Amino acid sequence: MRALDKFELDLKSRAARQLAVDRFMVPGILTEEQVRQVEAAGYTLEIVSDLSLVAEERVQEVSHVNRFAEVAGLSGFEKRAVLGYMTADEVESALVNLQALHPDLVTLIELPNRTWENRVSHAVRVRAGTNMDRAGVLFTGSMHAREWGGSDICINFLVNLINAYRSSSALTYGGKSFPAAQVRTILENLDVFVFPDVNPDGKHYSQTYNPNSGSSQGFWWRKNRNPNTAVGASSPGVDLNRNFDFLWASEIGTSSSPSSFTYKGQSAFSEPESRNVKYLFDTYPNIGYFVDIHSYGGLILYNWGDDNNQTTDPGQNFLNPAYNGKRGSLNDTLYGEFIPAQDKETIVKLADHMNSALAAVRGKNYTVQQSVGLYPTSATSDDYVFSRHIVNGLNRKVYAYTIEFGEEFVPPFSEMNNIIQEICAAMSELCWAAAGT
Ligand SMILES: [Zn+2]
Repeated sequence: MRALDKFELDLKSRAARQLAVDRFMVPGILTEEQVRQVEAAGYTLEIVSDLSLVAEERVQEVSHVNRFAEVAGLSGFEKRAVLGYMTADEVESALVNLQALHPDLVTLIELPNRTWENRVSHAVRVRAGTNMDRAGVLFTGSMHAREWGGSDICINFLVNLINAYRSSSALTYGGKSFPAAQVRTILENLDVFVFPDVNPDGKHYSQTYNPNSGSSQGFWWRKNRNPNTAVGASSPGVDLNRNFDFLWASEIGTSSSPSSFTYKGQSAFSEPESRNVKYLFDTYPNIGYFVDIHSYGGLILYNWGDDNNQTTDPGQNFLNPAYNGKRGSLNDTLYGEFIPAQDKETIVKLADHMNSALAAVRGKNYTVQQSVGLYPTSATSDDYVFSRHIVNGLNRKVYAYTIEFGEEFVPPFSEMNNIIQEICAAMSELCWAAAGT
């Protein structure tokens, strides 16, 4: 995969698989020109689908009106939400009106950094009861533009959790049910933070691409819309999930070339959208759990992402400059990223719990694995979040995950509705586990 870097392809590295001892497979989105280049270099390509046609189909499934512009829109939420993907405006409206409908439960958090296109973003905190000593859980969605469904998952999760609490009823997702008493425990013992649409400029750009333009590249947008990073006619934008302050300078699995799909930006947290995520951790120090929702791959990923984990040598850690340049190659003895055995046990156990809840919905399992997978990365949200307490001992330790839902970036909305159930079950399970600790 490193040998493929020179083509600057849009590869789904976390979905890469080893097929045989000397054979690997990685999905990607290639232009016809890139197909020719890669084939000419001797690689084997299998064209899975014509993504221009997929884009034309999926864009029909974006809502054309703002269904949640008024508070009343949320009372009929279930019937409305199943009709298609939410727009960036709808996500904002849903949050604002959720607070208006449930002012005793929901705090609207205006995030301090406007996006490059001047959008204001919100997160919410949901809590009930009077317990002042509680941990927080934060869920984020749609950091990557084309991964629309993360926002839909987050809004469904919020509405369902609050409705179950209000009506003292069980929270049911397919074959997985959380009894009313568990729902109550979650909201009375925990702060539930949700930031459903980290990259609204990107989502808007992707959802409003012009199918008649002869190219679907706009639909498959990944980065934000930072206009200052355009070089000549090349594409602007920064990969927000390579812009966090964790080994940012290392360039492991990132690029300093603005035209790259994994362009890391001019500095860690150069982008308003990633700073908005950081703001939540700086402002709400009780957050102890974090899930960043992406697509795709059917994966629940835990730290670390830069190298293989090891539990024996604390000196081999991301802060130690003696190992600069040695990180990021897999299955060698040069370096392994230290994780205390106890943390590893906890982080895997919680991931297994999430997977069990998810699997109970309709019988499909996700794969729980270390996020390094086959392709090391740096400057991602989950590693930054878990590193905060190591960098500064005053910070609370935050167990951090990335969930890669589904089997394509934008599933048909009928399938997205099933995925919403699965991921909401996993999120609820993590809250239940966190509320009991
Ligand atoms: Zn993503």
